[in-house]
Amino acid sequence: MKKLSIKLGIVFFLIIFSLEIFMFFFLHAALVDSRIEEEFFSLQARGNAHRDILEKHFEPDTISHVTLMESEANTDVVITDMNGQLLGSSVKSIDIQDHINRSDSDIPRDGEVVDDNWKEGKFISTVSPIDINGETSGKVFMFQETASIHSLIERLNRHFILTGLIAVFLTLIVIIFLSKGLAKPLIRMKEATSKISKGDFTISLPKNRNDELGDLANSISQLASDLNYLTQERNDFLASISHELRTPLTYIKGYADIVLKRNLSIEDRDKYLIIIHEEVNRLSDLIKDLFDLAKMDKNSFVIQKRPIDLTDFFLKIEQKFSPAFQEKELEFEVICPEGAVIIADPARLEQIIFNLLDNAIKHSSPGAKTFLSINNKKKDVYINVRDNGKGIPEEDLPYILNRFYRVDKSRTRSLGGTGLGLAIVKELVLAHGGTIAVKSKEGIGTEFELVFKGADNIENDTIS
Ligand code: ATP
Ligand code: MG
Repeated sequence: MKKLSIKLGIVFFLIIFSLEIFMFFFLHAALVDSRIEEEFFSLQARGNAHRDILEKHFEPDTISHVTLMESEANTDVVITDMNGQLLGSSVKSIDIQDHINRSDSDIPRDGEVVDDNWKEGKFISTVSPIDINGETSGKVFMFQETASIHSLIERLNRHFILTGLIAVFLTLIVIIFLSKGLAKPLIRMKEATSKISKGDFTISLPKNRNDELGDLANSISQLASDLNYLTQERNDFLASISHELRTPLTYIKGYADIVLKRNLSIEDRDKYLIIIHEEVNRLSDLIKDLFDLAKMDKNSFVIQKRPIDLTDFFLKIEQKFSPAFQEKELEFEVICPEGAVIIADPARLEQIIFNLLDNAIKHSSPGAKTFLSINNKKKDVYINVRDNGKGIPEEDLPYILNRFYRVDKSRTRSLGGTGLGLAIVKELVLAHGGTIAVKSKEGIGTEFELVFKGADNIENDTIS
């Protein structure tokens, strides 16, 4: 039995059915008790009424009048003197002696029940004392056949059984609809998840519920679209990787073949070996970058944050990069407030700045200038890398941080990047809890703005 709706239905039914049974039994017992009590009460009241008349006129005429009255009713009366001697009776066929003998001599004024065995006996009976001048002079016995009580209870039982059956039927219908209604969205979600697991992300789940099932449906839809995006991205990534690996390998193989097969002059051979060497370097850089990105994706990338004195840090960066800028006849200026402190991993921060400055160098023409400026705003540290190089076309700007994205799709050996530099920058900045934004105008220049959480530093004196 697998079906959720059936399981839910059975559980609901068992709970509600047992509750109903309990309530019906309880109600039935209470009703029967109160009806029986009523019967005894009215029998006793009738006996008391006769007694009241007989107390006023305890004489044969009144006795026969009372018995005559009762012979027409469905109750019976027996009047005796104090010693149990029969004075009058409306009873024809029953053995009343046993009842008469059973009554006490000391009977309360309001009378008492003599025989209450309505379940098995043929009669129930009560007795009321006739007190004349303070002395008990006789007794009025009242009898009622239990058959009428039995038929009353039978009628009650029939009503209960009918109502019970209707209640069970209605319960069943309500439960069937309820359990189906509850199970239906779950079944749809189960179907959706098995579709997702087979790689089909085109699922549609109702979005109009605002309960937990609605939340679950939304999460599953979100999961499907995330998985779809990831699968797409993984496929693109794999295609790009194989393309990126193939290109340098083709160069290496081609030039290696030439070096091996042809009788080359020493200069030519060296030229080709240098190309092979460059390509191998590029390949190893690519693999290192890919490895870094893979580690970042797996979250196994360790960021060892500590407070960094930025003045010191950027002074070293300036010293390290100035030769590279000079070599390309570019200007480079670092603007950093004194005492600025940032909480970051120094090696990773250097990698970030390196990638950004490397791009600025690659995409600027001689005479252009690159600024590296650091600012404290409120509690954040802003790092801006601005160049007036060739800029990035507007249509490429939204994709510039994506893996393998290059504006110049051809792989020229002079610039020859892999398109992973900015993707790594982005991942590293995000791993530090920072943000990255890029502004660029073709022919004017590019500016990257990184925002990191600072270490509460206030001084803003600028050094260069
Ligand atoms: P890698 O950095 O992996 O060696 P890459 O420099 O080509 O390769 P990214 O750093 O990710 O890759 O840059 C992606 C592309 O963005 C570059 O190919 C270039 O077209 C463009 N770009 C990046 N920075 C600049 C910049 N400062 N000026 C102009 N274009 C830029
Ligand atoms: Mg780069």
